[in-house]
Amino acid sequence: MNHIVEAIGNTPLVKLNNVTDGIKGTILAKVEYFNPGNSVKDRMALKMIEDAEKAGLLKPGGTIIEGTSGNTGMGLALAAIAKGYKCIFTMSDKQSKEKQDILRAVGAEVIVCPTNVAPDDPRSYYSVARKLNQEIPNSIYPNQYDNPSNSAAHYETTGPELWQQTEGKITHYAAGVGTGGTICGTAKYLKEQNPNIVTVGLDTYGSVFKKYKETGIFDENEIYPYKTEGIGEDILPKNVNFDLIDLFIKVSDKDAALMTRRLAKEEGLFVGWSCGSAVYGALEYAKEHLKEDDTMVIVLPDHGTRYLGKIYNDDWMREQGWL
Ligand code: PMP
Repeated sequence: MNHIVEAIGNTPLVKLNNVTDGIKGTILAKVEYFNPGNSVKDRMALKMIEDAEKAGLLKPGGTIIEGTSGNTGMGLALAAIAKGYKCIFTMSDKQSKEKQDILRAVGAEVIVCPTNVAPDDPRSYYSVARKLNQEIPNSIYPNQYDNPSNSAAHYETTGPELWQQTEGKITHYAAGVGTGGTICGTAKYLKEQNPNIVTVGLDTYGSVFKKYKETGIFDENEIYPYKTEGIGEDILPKNVNFDLIDLFIKVSDKDAALMTRRLAKEEGLFVGWSCGSAVYGALEYAKEHLKEDDTMVIVLPDHGTRYLGKIYNDDWMREQGWL
């Protein structure tokens, strides 16, 4: 390998054995922390940069500016090192301190912005990223929410990997929804192979997706602060194609946190918080709907190290009243 970014993709698919009591069928986890940046977002970060280069938008010595909860930033930073670009990331202040430190460790500049302001507020991490992009010459703002390269990365890699790894046996596919790139890119590929595959999107309380899917209404009352990192939104990203997501299930911060800790202890999967959301919600669905011959794949987006100060810290868990 000439560079670590060549190690992106081809992550293992691992059977869940102990958190699946009372469920018929096979539950497999796509363990995305095996990517070099330790998350699923490496896939789309590299693709967004390569597509920007091909389109002539990113030139040597350029700067990549993005609003990111951390994982996209890590992927972009690795790709930037491989290709000689600078990175500036804006992040909301609810994200783990670890995520900021990790991004600084790989050479990025990080600007922390307030979480509880509207997306169009000039202080929001979306607005600050956009403004920097206007001010800094030879910079690009990939905008993972609306950039089609995001879904395309999963259409080209995650989808085919799952189809091959399950030898076409996959019947259900579940993933948390943030930008929507992971679930929709993968689902598009899988549904082209077998239109009967059911896709389950995991959402949070405090996010607009589920209600929008069920009613077509963008309901601002659905928006309130929550703690799970990386999934749920207060906007409708262009990468969320509601036609490709058959249903949404909302998972609470607490249920997600407790399931994440079970995954570490009972499956040996030391994964991030949204992995607990994905597994908790997907298993709720599986309990009712899965049959003996069904195979469900659940995406586990990132690694547990990024949450040592939160869900893997017993004092923090007690402060939340969750232990
Ligand atoms: N979990 C984590 C930890 C994430 O960082 C993200 C990315 N926002 C997701 C889940 C959701 O992935 P996507 O943006 O592809 O919908």
